[in-house]
Amino acid sequence: MHAHYTVRFFHSHRSTLMQKPYPHDRDSHSVAIVGTGPAALMAADKLASSGIQVTLFDKRAAAAWKLFVAGSSGLNITNALPLNAFASNYTGPAQHWQTCLSQFSNEDWVRFIEVELGQKTFLGTSGRYFVETMHAAALVRAWRRRLESMGVSFHFAHELIDFSSDGTDCTLRFKNETTFSFPKVLLALGGGSYEPTEDPLRWISIFENKGIRFNAFSPMNSGYHVAWTKAFLAEVDGQPFKNIEFRNSKGSRKGDLIITEYGLEGTPVYTLGEAGAASIDLKPDLSLDAIKQKLLSSKENFSLIRRAQKHLQLNKAALALIFHMGRPEWKNSLDDFALAIKNFPLTLLQPRPLSESISARGGVSWDELGDNLELTSHPGIYLAGEMIDWEAPTGGFLIQGGVAQGRFVAESMLK
Ligand SMILES: Cc1cc2nc3c(=O)[nH]c(=O)nc-3n(C[C@H](O)[C@H](O)[C@H](O)COP(=O)(O)OP(=O)(O)OC[C@H]3O[C@@H](n4cnc5c(N)ncnc54)[C@H](O)[C@@H]3O)c2cc1C
Repeated sequence: MHAHYTVRFFHSHRSTLMQKPYPHDRDSHSVAIVGTGPAALMAADKLASSGIQVTLFDKRAAAAWKLFVAGSSGLNITNALPLNAFASNYTGPAQHWQTCLSQFSNEDWVRFIEVELGQKTFLGTSGRYFVETMHAAALVRAWRRRLESMGVSFHFAHELIDFSSDGTDCTLRFKNETTFSFPKVLLALGGGSYEPTEDPLRWISIFENKGIRFNAFSPMNSGYHVAWTKAFLAEVDGQPFKNIEFRNSKGSRKGDLIITEYGLEGTPVYTLGEAGAASIDLKPDLSLDAIKQKLLSSKENFSLIRRAQKHLQLNKAALALIFHMGRPEWKNSLDDFALAIKNFPLTLLQPRPLSESISARGGVSWDELGDNLELTSHPGIYLAGEMIDWEAPTGGFLIQGGVAQGRFVAESMLK
């Protein structure tokens, strides 16, 4: 790699300089990475452990902010699916994901966390891997310590506002009026979701101003609005539909859904979310006939609702759905009632906003990138992670996608 590094200050800000001196060895091999999410940290790790001087920048005051957010609901680091099935969860070029994930697989990532970061993991019954602590703090702390011990420097409160490349140097300009040049740069600025204070995200305009094709971010893996009645919500707001099967024109997915005041949250809706007609099978493991038989088996002169509670073990949320959201006549007809259990019709209205979504559709277009994820219009500047136009469902695919791409870019730079 061309060994060249320059630092230029237009105004030196004592406060930012105090946190850590910028490396300034002109002879060292050096790479700048903007972002400190999983894609950035994995690239930094691979480069630093190969002897490259790495400098990380982030607009925030601490590393890996979104990993902390992800960890607040249980940090699901990856999934146990085998390679082909795993790779089929991503949009974008299939060949890219095959290469990327075979170079750094789910097993490699779990081993890295266990061996290099010293964090225990476990495989949940759903085929999802989690860190044992369920939170991101210990993992991020261990990773940052490891990187710093390899000479990686972190510079916070550095918001990237522009970049350029003349084919030899890549120049980064930050909001705090500092400018740096590096031979190679990785931008891993993350996706458009969960950015409560920026709407739209400020980095998008850097790309748009350069004419780099960017597909607008929209919510993905997000909750959806449903027009619940007041009576239904009063009874079961915050409660789950357990072990149901959600269906719509995109397919079907088993799992749990949480009822919220605005609608529904949970993996089946995150995975298949689309405004329009949908249905819920409240008893997916029983056929329509089996349900009818069980309802008829009651010796007591109970209402259908009571029989469903007793003989089908429908939980409170499922019973309230039929009682409050179904047609009144369904409660008195065995056929209609059984059908409502198997195929309860729902309409998903609009998704929750991007600022509440787990991830986003959209990002920098693949057309702008070479096979090695280098921006074709800006040689020496690479992208990785959710800022590229790819999507994946929840289940550990998002973090795995980020780390695999970070690793892939680092390998490309090293070549
Ligand atoms: C509520 C929630 C739960 C989630 N749960 C899971 C889960 O369990 N499993 C899973 O796989 N995924 C989960 N995710 C998704 C996962 O967190 C992301 O996919 C992952 O963090 C993306 O990694 P990244 O490296 O691409 O970007 P990010 O982690 O988003 O990192 C980007 C970094 O770039 C910085 N940055 C942005 N713009 C600039 C700029 N202009 N200048 C300088 N720095 C900048 C940001 O501050 C940030 O630190 C969850 C997300 C959310 C919101």
